[in-house]
Amino acid sequence: MLLRHTPEKITERKSLTINPAKTCQPIGAMYASLGIQGCLPHSHGSQGCCAYHRSTLTRHYKEPVSASTSSFTEGASVFGGQANMLQSITNIFSVYDPEVIAVHTTCLSETIGDDLPQITKKAKTEGKIPEGKSVISASTPSYVGSHITGFSNMVKSMAMVAEQTGKKNRKVNIIPGWVEPADMEEIKRIVKTIGVESILFPDTSGVLNGPLSGEYAMFPKGGTTMDELRSTGDSIGTLALGEWCSADAARWLDKSCHVPCSVLDMPFGLMATDRFIDALRIIAGVTIPEEIVNERGQLVDMISDMHQYLYQRKVALVGDPDQLISMTEFLVSLDMHPVHIVTGTPGKKFEKRIREITKDMPYEVNVKAGGDMFLLHQWIKNEPVDLLIGNTYCKYIARDEDIPYVRWGFPILDRQGHQYFPTVGYKGGLRLLEKILGELMDRIDRDATEQKFELVL
Ligand code: SF4
Repeated sequence: MLLRHTPEKITERKSLTINPAKTCQPIGAMYASLGIQGCLPHSHGSQGCCAYHRSTLTRHYKEPVSASTSSFTEGASVFGGQANMLQSITNIFSVYDPEVIAVHTTCLSETIGDDLPQITKKAKTEGKIPEGKSVISASTPSYVGSHITGFSNMVKSMAMVAEQTGKKNRKVNIIPGWVEPADMEEIKRIVKTIGVESILFPDTSGVLNGPLSGEYAMFPKGGTTMDELRSTGDSIGTLALGEWCSADAARWLDKSCHVPCSVLDMPFGLMATDRFIDALRIIAGVTIPEEIVNERGQLVDMISDMHQYLYQRKVALVGDPDQLISMTEFLVSLDMHPVHIVTGTPGKKFEKRIREITKDMPYEVNVKAGGDMFLLHQWIKNEPVDLLIGNTYCKYIARDEDIPYVRWGFPILDRQGHQYFPTVGYKGGLRLLEKILGELMDRIDRDATEQKFELVL
């Protein structure tokens, strides 16, 4: 009973968050930066922030995450960190030699009001940025939004390096949003199978799920190259997966470089994947290849075979908005009942969207944007569920309330596999379903009497 003090009675709270369902903006910016080839993320603030962000990503991805910091001390905290950042740029290019430095701010540098574009311009004027190398930056104050906001801000900064040569490259920009490296790999496979030429950004596959080769590479081979990012301005269109993670970058490309964009849901589950595949089909002007049709058929087959175990099971969910929207739709399509849904990222649009998706369910769903896991726990105490889906922090609720629990989302600190096995697309849908069914069936086995303990379920 680790959360034994969580009361059943829900009282209005406006100024207090307990067990947040989000983390801070720079973590998202740092993750996005790692999806650029040869990039060193740089944290403009104190060492403590940078250490926290690196360690959170390292614990989730089980890979060493390198990032540098402006190392603010008292002087920079009072007078601003321009001198620190200029010195950092010089040191980083001379010691580590990255292709690009992606700088994000922290609460401290934002509160002082450091102007990153101005400092970067000064670094360029003073010749601190070597020829052919780049510095990009994003403003990521952590007292606004969440890690998803930081991710989105950095992805938009990537889009802002786009150039227009006047000659189209016949490629489609695909902005995958905050998904696992394995998901990015899977998106690339699907896109290639359908026959669409693409630029995926960011792309952390090969960076945060690379092999153990016996040799340390400061900058692994994966990631979107700066040349590809520049070329996004010449693409024929952009598919942005996720309103919260990817839309800002796509709309910026649309507005500034006239690259038309469509904002889709992240392709988790059957229907969101259908829409993604259909969008690719239209772009490529082809019929869907048999390989993809078969994958869809396998997912539909498993859904119909196992429907009896899923029907009307109540689910509580916590995570990030784009992921939760697609997952809720998937659960509804399985005839499951998502009843409590919380994201730590603020935005009333999220609540509206979830209500639309669940409108045909027999009762109204509890949904909160900008909520916390304390509230989720209270909802569960008032209306128990059969399954909990969320990040590692859910394990306390799952243990206290004795609920089957699927780890999915960010961060997952106590299990492996999320970097290697995708949950996007039809194949990813199979994996999600396998995880859900595994938990539900383990519970049936655990609770069965000896007479009802079945070999075949
Ligand atoms: S001070 Fe701000 S940026 Fe740094 S770790 Fe805390 S919330 Fe994140």
